[in-house]
This record gives sequence, C-alpha cells and structure tokens, in this order.
Amino acid sequence: MRFIRSLSFVFLLLGVLAGPAQAQRTLLHCGTLIDPAVHDAPVEERTVVVEGARVAAVESGYTQPQEGDRVVNLRQAYCMPGLIDMHTHLSGEFEKGGYIDPFRRSPADRALEASTYTQATLMAGFTTVRDVGGDEGIDLALRNAINRGDVVGPRMFVAGNTLAVSGGHGDPTTGYREDIVGPGTVQEGVVNGVSQAIEGTRRAIKRGADHVKITATGGVLSLNEDGTRPHFQEDEIRAIVETARDHGRKVAAHAHGDEGMQRAVRAGVASIEHGTYLSDETMQMMIDRGTYLVATITAGKSVADSARIEGYYAPAVVEKALEVGPIIQETFARAYEMGVPIAFGTDAGVFRHGRNATEFEYMVEAGMPPFEAIHAATYSAADLLGRLDELGTLENGKYADVVAVSENPLDDIRALHDIGFVMKAGTIYKQDGAPTPPTIAP
Ligand SMILES: [Zn+2]
Repeated sequence: MRFIRSLSFVFLLLGVLAGPAQAQRTLLHCGTLIDPAVHDAPVEERTVVVEGARVAAVESGYTQPQEGDRVVNLRQAYCMPGLIDMHTHLSGEFEKGGYIDPFRRSPADRALEASTYTQATLMAGFTTVRDVGGDEGIDLALRNAINRGDVVGPRMFVAGNTLAVSGGHGDPTTGYREDIVGPGTVQEGVVNGVSQAIEGTRRAIKRGADHVKITATGGVLSLNEDGTRPHFQEDEIRAIVETARDHGRKVAAHAHGDEGMQRAVRAGVASIEHGTYLSDETMQMMIDRGTYLVATITAGKSVADSARIEGYYAPAVVEKALEVGPIIQETFARAYEMGVPIAFGTDAGVFRHGRNATEFEYMVEAGMPPFEAIHAATYSAADLLGRLDELGTLENGKYADVVAVSENPLDDIRALHDIGFVMKAGTIYKQDGAPTPPTIAP
C-alpha cells in the first residue's frame, strides 16, 4: 500500500514538473503554397502553424518561432494539402498469376503484406485514401491499425466487401467451380434483389464500412467474359443508395458500360469509378446531379500493358484489358471538357502501390492543367468523401496534412513523383525525402 502511495507521489511530481499538457507547435515555412481551393494561384512565403493534429493558422511570411516551437524549413519547396486517392485497394496488389492467391495465402499473410502498401502510399504523399473494396476484413483492420498508430499509412476510409450480383464483377466466386468455392453469399457481398441489396449494405456498415462500393457493370480483371454490361437492376442500386444514406454513407459505383452507369447515376450514387464508355448524355446527367467521375486512367493503361505480357492474365481478361484499358483516358478528356465533376483516383492495387502520382501525368496529358489536377486530389476528393470540414485544404481547424516537393509541379506535374515531405495529422512521416520516425504521437 505504502509502495503504491509513494508511486503515485512520483507520478504526481512528474506531472507537476512537466507542467500542463501543451501541444508543441510546428511552423512549416513554405516557400510556395499551392492550395487550389483557397488561393486561385500559388502564394509565396507562407507559414502553416500546426498545433497537435490540426492547422492552427496559415500566416503570410515566415512566422518567427516562440519558445518550444519547432520550425521546418521548406523555403525552397512547394507545399500542398496532403494528396487524396479516391480509388485504392490497399488490401492487395495484383501480380502475375494472382488468381490463385486466395487459395495459397492466408488473410494474415495478406494483411501483413498490405501494411507495406499503406506505408508506400503515405510516402508517396497520399495522406488519405478512399479504399473501394477489400476482402477478409483486411481493409477494415488496416484502417483501424493506422488509426491506432500501429501501422504507418494514410488515413483510410474503407468499403469492406464490394457489393455485386451473382456472377458479377465483385462476386469473389465468379470464374471458379461453384461446388468448391460456393455460390457467393451476402456475407461476401453477393446480393440479388432489393431485400438482399438492403441486407448487404447494412452488413457492410455493421462491420465498419465508411462507404459502400458496388460493381454496377462487368469489369476487366474478374474471370467473367463480360466487361461492360449492367449488373444491377436500378431498384437494387436505389435500395443500396437509400440504405447507405440512412446511415450517412455514400455509394461508389464501379462501371464501364453506359447503361449500367445511367442506372447508377439515376439511382443516386455519389461517384462513377472508371467510366469507360460514358456517353455525353450520361455525362450531362452527372453534371446535373453533381455525380463525380473517378477515372483511374492509370488502371486502364496498366492493365492494357500487363495484358501484352504472355500469361499475365487469363485469356478472357486479356481481351477485356486490351479493349477497355486504352479508352479511359479519352473518356476522361471528354468529361473534363464537358465539366463533369472530377476527383482523383488511381485503382492502386491493380498496379503497384506507391505509384499513385502517375495518374497526375495522365490527367495533365488529357488536357487538365496541373493546378486543377491538384485540386481534384485535394478539395474535390474531400468533397466526394463528405469530409470538407476536416480535409482537402489547409485552413484553421482542419487536419494538418501537408506534403511538399522541391520542383514546381505546375511547371512539370512529374515533380509529384518526388515527394520530399509528408505530414499527416501533425506528425512528420517523411522529411528531406527520407522516412522519419514519428516525432509527435498521433
Ligand atoms: Zn478498383
């Protein structure tokens, strides 16, 4: 008893010596600040004042530190809000022969491997991702581990299992013997009819999904000969959207063919993913309703490249990849011209994680100015997430998610491949181009 009492005394003393808990301030001295939704052009010599996890102020000039402040010299650098990728699959990475993966490796193996993907993504300057489909609960576990500070990675918003129809693109049993892998269950995200659509949505949310992902049409990488036909009936999609909305969740719809996209847009999804064969008519519907396009041009290009490698994909996939892949960039260019709302997304996982910035190059190549591409990966992405109160710009009270590069990305967008500095929620994860051990507890 006496021991415990004297121990408490020691703690009390330590508490007094440490003084009241006060978050250390960090002053980021940014030579140039590119924050497209706040300033309609780059601004020079700004200080981002960070207190704890949040931005306390953005001040003109280089604010002089007070006692205890830490200063980060980014005077030669270009600072931006943390980048946001709205279409990742961090629970896996497709490789040659990936179709037998689920039979060889356990969820535990895959989860540990995935923890290197989250790290690569954060080091590439992506401080937030919307992950749009993972199995075995790996995405949910990754999000939770990152939030606890156990794993290094971006702030993740996750979907859990994709919702798909029997035999659809997201049905994990498609292309395999039904007597061995089973018919695909609601638990796995396979839903048919309005009642199961509602049940599947509620179960995904019950397990912790931040948003709901559906496969509204066929897709490229599944073992299914159809890549573009509609997979859901409109009343099924509407049931998913309305159920998700009841729980404050948005719905993202994977889609390549126009009919499936029209159904999804009419039913009220928040975004069309890929959008390969979008007609002008459907684009106009998206503009009218504020539906975002997340084009994932990188996925289209990379599957077309991989399809040319002998034996990389199954024959049915090769055909689809060569047909669908190259079209996405042209569609993106048309959508940009027409004024469809665009948010940045890559489909990382279909190609190697950490290469997310490649999408910027393709967007700019398709006619979008670099400034707008950065806007799409910051403000617009946060808007589609429904998190503009905390993310997407560097303003008072928002998360201190800041990245910096040494060359001007507005002159050459490829500068975004070389992220030199990464701060997420006030913690520095990368400085002078090298990973740093976190210096402030998240
Ligand atoms: Zn995807």
